Amino acid sequence: MRFDVFTLFPRMFDSPFAESIIHRAIKAGLIEIHTHDIRAYATDKHRTTDDYPFGGGTGMVMKPEPIFAAVESVLGVPLPPDVPIILMTPSGRTFNHALAQALAQHQRIALICGHYEGVDERVREHLCTDAISIGDYVLTGGELAAMVVIDAVARLVPGVLPPEATQDESHASGLLEYPQYTRPAEFRGWRVPEVLLSGNHAAIARWRREQAEARTRARQAQLQHTAPAPAAQLKVE
Ligand code: SAM
Repeated sequence: MRFDVFTLFPRMFDSPFAESIIHRAIKAGLIEIHTHDIRAYATDKHRTTDDYPFGGGTGMVMKPEPIFAAVESVLGVPLPPDVPIILMTPSGRTFNHALAQALAQHQRIALICGHYEGVDERVREHLCTDAISIGDYVLTGGELAAMVVIDAVARLVPGVLPPEATQDESHASGLLEYPQYTRPAEFRGWRVPEVLLSGNHAAIARWRREQAEARTRARQAQLQHTAPAPAAQLKVE
């Protein structure tokens, strides 16, 4: 699987993908991560990639021309219909496991990282096929968000992890994962649950299932607690 990342700061991607599982997957030829410097596609002598927002306001907005030029140059024209072109933005749909699984079905995806006040809306409307947020908060740039998406998708690519490693995981089956323990069996007086030391595989499986269900219920209750009030209950000033 190939990831093409369009960014003003390609060097940000060097270190996170030079370690651990993703690095091994790259070395094994299972995934490729290509970063493309949007600034290299700006054509004026100062290589301008941002400008003041029409209508006023603080901050700078990333210009459409270098982004279109970069993506079209790398992906080709006409743009391949089977390659999702994703804008990283806090106003996109929220990234989750189901979306990671859907993206992992593709051979190639392109990610566009915004910066400053964001990206000229024509990029989202006329170049991108999707817009993704990694959560309801605002980062300084789309680079970390793109890394999160790449990491979550890459580990689902066949061969990157053993198949059983991703089966029971949180969010994969609708249940959160059960608690995990390793040696020592006792640490500072806190003992590992006895059932895990029993060697009774059926009892262990049952305990894990119960724990996963309890943890999932607790998290659901927490989510309901923090959910915004239904529109009808919101007070309009
Ligand atoms: N003014 C924008 C707004 O209020 O929606 C925020 C711009 S943010 C400072 C700059 C860039 O960071 C965005 O263009 C986007 O690429 C990226 N970004 C920030 N938060 C993000 C999030 N939660 N998910 C994905 N990308 C994000």
